[in-house]
Amino acid sequence: MQAGTQNKKLKTSSKNVAGRGVESTSYQNRFVKGIPFKFDYEASVESTEVVKIKSQNELFIGGKFVKPQSGKYFKTLNPATENVLAEVAEANSTDVDLAVLAARKAFATWSKLSGHERGRYLFKIARIIQERAREVAILESLDNGKPIKETRDVDTPLAAAHFFYHAGWADKLEYVVPGRSVAPLGVVGQIIPWNFPLLMAAWKIAPALACGNTVVLKPAETTPLTALLLAEIIQQAELPEGVVNIVTGAGETGANLVDHPDVNKIAFTGSTDIGRRIQKAIAGTQKRLTLELGGKSAHIIFEDAAIDQAIEGVINGIYFNQGHVCCAGSRLLLEESISELFVKKLKKRMQKIRIGNPLDKNTDIGAINSAGELQKIQNLVGVGKTEGGEFFEPNLTLPSKGYFHKPCFFNGVSSAATLSRVEVFGPVLTIATFRTPEEAVLKANDTPYGLAAGLWSEKGSKIHKVASRLRAGVIWANTYNKFDPTSPFGGYYESGFGREGGRHGLLGYLEVK
Ligand code: NAP
Ligand code: MG
Repeated sequence: MQAGTQNKKLKTSSKNVAGRGVESTSYQNRFVKGIPFKFDYEASVESTEVVKIKSQNELFIGGKFVKPQSGKYFKTLNPATENVLAEVAEANSTDVDLAVLAARKAFATWSKLSGHERGRYLFKIARIIQERAREVAILESLDNGKPIKETRDVDTPLAAAHFFYHAGWADKLEYVVPGRSVAPLGVVGQIIPWNFPLLMAAWKIAPALACGNTVVLKPAETTPLTALLLAEIIQQAELPEGVVNIVTGAGETGANLVDHPDVNKIAFTGSTDIGRRIQKAIAGTQKRLTLELGGKSAHIIFEDAAIDQAIEGVINGIYFNQGHVCCAGSRLLLEESISELFVKKLKKRMQKIRIGNPLDKNTDIGAINSAGELQKIQNLVGVGKTEGGEFFEPNLTLPSKGYFHKPCFFNGVSSAATLSRVEVFGPVLTIATFRTPEEAVLKANDTPYGLAAGLWSEKGSKIHKVASRLRAGVIWANTYNKFDPTSPFGGYYESGFGREGGRHGLLGYLEVK
């Protein structure tokens, strides 16, 4: 989107509202094909035809939407416009108590249902997510700032896929650990971040339910709306009351959940700092814990790689979702012989990135989720500029309102520099070179994290050899940021422990007898 267009009123043709036969001449026609909105950048974000955002949103406890005990509400914004989207209930310790109580009560019956019956509920939730996919995708883009292209093609279908996949497991749990019987843990407290709000909720809720646990989930403060939409979907699927409870609020609400004596397990996705704090808080209790934390993942390009494809891989690896990706390929390692050519091509490609309105289907980079995150990224870029290396950002125009940050990189950065070590969690890449595969491995592993890595080479033997020496939970070869519910995801070291997805993900929600 060009600066200045966002305040412009855009008329909606009846054709566009119906989502059919849109022409490609006017600005509004660039919005998601088939999504019937009345588009006007300012007004539409709160009044689309498909998305009805309630001005006041309640907690979801015991199958009902209920007011918070304190009567307090907080605001959630659209980071692309800085407008308030809605007010959301703030759960205090009494609300968390009620939610855990509801989950405990529901556990008695839910855990006794046959796997077949539990699976049917999960299938139903998956189907409703698919049916309401447009609504889900738009709401996610509005609350988070991520491009509709991603919420439509990645977040929403993957969320449904997680429910489908785990529906399939619900009646096959005896095969999780062959020869052993398994049992659910009980009430699970789940805390998720703002970067993939609905998808992280699906990653958490689907396996927990498939295994016979009940759930209290706390979404991130800045992105609570799709979790609440999921609560509506759960009601629509007629999931028994109390099996899933959703308590919105700030960090304090999450801490209340962590501290609750009747929770059997905490599953946390978020920053390494808060993960550490949670680990300390539950030390000495009987609670189980899995932590999916931060990362500083290496993306290695060998000279024999298909360069143009690798360029696309690097763009996707770091600029997908504004770089708010725990496994983002934020440290690019280039074989020295191709580094000059690669950087030249990367700059040219970055100039073509489209940044702006998240609801524009052509947008590649949307808004940074909050003013605080934008500030954090800007500060780290400031530090990077004092530490050396060539700084590059394309000549793109940012919208005049909203929280936006240009994609950028620092080329020629040492492994000791702040930006090579600290997770920026934004569209900021560092570039360094290597001469041999051994040096690439050494540099890739030179990090306190161990979540993911990527490598590009046309030689299968080299890929296998290097991949086997990388200390990271997820390794992509000749691709990046590809996710699938069948594949376990999780990290080493400061990236946490435990896996989500696949057979291994189920182990975090079961006792093995
Ligand atoms: P965060 O600040 O750690 O927050 C994560 C969640 O924890 C939020 O719901 C937050 O609530 C809550 N929280 C805050 N303080 C808490 C406390 N003392 N006790 C319990 N819960 C508390 O992380 P974020 O900024 O939302 O997310 C970014 C981080 O998540 C990055 O480091 C990223 O790498 C990581 N991440 C990891 C994965 C993975 O799978 N490994 C996936 C996605 C993201 P509020 O929102 O209200 O503060
Ligand atoms: Mg928001």
